[in-house]
Amino acid sequence: MPPARPASRGSKPRKTRGEGMAVFDGLGVSPGIAIGPAYVHGVEAFAIAECGVAPDQVESELKRFRAGVEVSLKQLAKLKRKTAALPAEAAEELGHLLDAHTQMLSQSRLVRGVEKRIAENLLMPESAVRAEADAIAEAFEAMDDSYLAQRVQEVREVAGRLLRNLTQTPWGAFKNVPNGAIVVAEEITPADTAVMDPETIGGFATMIGGREGHTAIMARALGLPAVLGVPELVGAVRPGDDVILDGEAGRVIVRPTPATLAKYEKKRQEFEKAERRLARTAKLPAITKDSVPFTLLANLELPREVDLAVASGAAGVGLLRSEFLFMNRDDVPGEDEQYEQLAQILRGMNGKLVTVRTLDVGGEKLASALGDLSPGPNPALGLRAIRLGLKRPELLDTQLAAILRAAMVGPLRILVPMISTPDEMVAVREALAKAARRLVRKGVAIPDPLPPLGAMIEVPGAALAADALARVCDFFALGTNDLTMYTLAIDRGDEQVAHLYNPLHPAVLRLIQFTAEAALRNRIPVSICGEIAGDPRYTALLAGLGIRELSMSPTKIARVKSRVRALDLSAATQRARAVMDESDAARIAALVDGFNDSFGTD
Ligand code: PEP
Ligand code: MG
Repeated sequence: MPPARPASRGSKPRKTRGEGMAVFDGLGVSPGIAIGPAYVHGVEAFAIAECGVAPDQVESELKRFRAGVEVSLKQLAKLKRKTAALPAEAAEELGHLLDAHTQMLSQSRLVRGVEKRIAENLLMPESAVRAEADAIAEAFEAMDDSYLAQRVQEVREVAGRLLRNLTQTPWGAFKNVPNGAIVVAEEITPADTAVMDPETIGGFATMIGGREGHTAIMARALGLPAVLGVPELVGAVRPGDDVILDGEAGRVIVRPTPATLAKYEKKRQEFEKAERRLARTAKLPAITKDSVPFTLLANLELPREVDLAVASGAAGVGLLRSEFLFMNRDDVPGEDEQYEQLAQILRGMNGKLVTVRTLDVGGEKLASALGDLSPGPNPALGLRAIRLGLKRPELLDTQLAAILRAAMVGPLRILVPMISTPDEMVAVREALAKAARRLVRKGVAIPDPLPPLGAMIEVPGAALAADALARVCDFFALGTNDLTMYTLAIDRGDEQVAHLYNPLHPAVLRLIQFTAEAALRNRIPVSICGEIAGDPRYTALLAGLGIRELSMSPTKIARVKSRVRALDLSAATQRARAVMDESDAARIAALVDGFNDSFGTD
C-alpha cells in the first residue's frame, strides 16, 4: 500500500528538489572556491552483494538490523534538533522530511519487509535492506504518481543510512567520488576527512560541524574548500547537481545560473592567483619591520602534509597531531609501526624540529582503534587525551618508546595534551624515563639527554596555574581552540553556538597573556598552535602579547608571514596594551580590526 500523504503537507506540498538555483549560507571554514557536481554522501549506491545467513544466525542478524535501525533513528533525532536553529519555514520543511524518514524506520513496510527477508529468505541485513528498498522503489515508480515518485528518493536515502550504519565503514567511502566533485553530507568526521584526496575532491559541505572542530581543521590542512553547518542541505541537493562552494564566505550555491557560474569561475581564478603570489613569500624571513624574528611552524594532521610544510617555509613542526596513527582502523598501532611513521615525518622535515603530541583522543576525537572507549556522559570533560594515556599506560608507554626511537632520526620534542595539573606532567615524565630505561636495557639507541617535554595549555585551570606548571615543563604550547571552548563553555564543533566562539573574549586573552608571561618568567619557550595562530587577524595582537612562535596549517604560513613582515612590534605592543585595558569583547574586536586595517589587505 502506498503511504498516506501527511495531512500537514496536503495544502502546501514540500518543494521538489531541483527547482532552479538555491543559495545557502553556513560557516566558511576553509577558504577557496570549488565548482563541481554534487556527490551526496550516503545516497550514492552501496555495492552490496547478495549474501545469505545460516538459520541459526537469524536471531543475531535480526538483532544487528534492529541496532542499525536504532542508530539511524538517533541520527535523525539529532538532525531534527539541529533544524531548530533554522528560520521557521526552513525548519518546518526539513522537519517534515526528517519525520518522513523517521516514519520509514518505525515499523514501516521497509522495516517489516527487511525483517521478513532476513527471517524467511535467510538474507543478510545489508542484502535484505537493498532488496526491500529496490522493491518499494519499483512499486512506487510503477504507480505513475508524482507524489510517490518523490518518495522513491526518500526510500533510497533511508536505505542508504541503514546500509551505512550496518556496514559501519564510512572511511574509504570517498574512493568513488568523481573528479572535482563537491561532497555534500550530513556530517563528515575528521576520520572521513583524513581519507579525502584533494587531487580528486573539489570541496565539501555539511549540515553539522563548527569552525574550530577537527573536520574544519583537517579541511584547512588539506586546502579543501569547505562550508559546514548548513542545515538546509538535506533534501536540497541531488546527486550530480552543479554546486559552487565559497569556503571563505561560507556560501553553497546549488544549480547556479550561467551568470552566477561565470562570476564564481572568475573569483576562483583570482583566489588561485592570490595564493600563488603569497607562496612566493615562503623563502623570505619571518621578521618584523623593527627586526624582531618570529618562528612560524606547521601543524600537521597527516604525514602527507610534510612536503607542503617544507614548501611553505615552515621552520619546523609546532604540532604533530598523532591521532592520524589511530584513525580508520580497528586495532592499535604497535611501537614499530608508530616509530616508522614518525621517522618518516622526521626524515621529511630534514633536520627541522618536530613537536610530537601524544595521543589526544576522546571528546570529539574518537578513534575506532580504541573501540572499547566509552565517551562518558560529557566527552569533552571526560577521559580524553593524557587522562586516557595515564589511565591506560600501555598506550602511553608504547607511544613514548616510539617517539624516543624516532628522536634519533631528527630533533623532536614531546607535547602532552590536556594537562591540567603539574602532577600529570610529573607522571608523564616518569613514564618517559621508564620507557627510556626499557629501551636502553634492550640496547636500543635513544637520545641523551631525553627530548624536551612540554604541556599543551588548553585547560583554563592550567593557564591560571602556568607558573607551577612551568616548573615541570620544558616548553608550553597554547591550544587556544580548546582554551576558548573551555573558557567560554562553547562547544567548538557545534555550529549552533559557533557565533559565540570568540578567542577575542577578554577572558581568553587574559589566559593567553598570563601563560605567555609565566613562560617568560620561568624562561621556557611558549608557542600558540590553536587556529588563531594561522589567522593574520590575530597576528599583531599575539605579537603584542609577547608571543614569538606560531604554529599553523602550512597553507596559512604565507599569509601570517606577510603580516609579521608588515608589523612594527613596538606599535603592536602598544595596541595590545590598549586591548588588554578593555573588557568589552566588541570594543576589543574593533581595536584589533582597526589596527589590522592599517596593514591594508594581503
Ligand atoms: C587546541 O586545542 O588549540 C589544539 C591545538 O589542539 P586540538 O585542536 O588538536 O584540540
Ligand atoms: Mg586541543
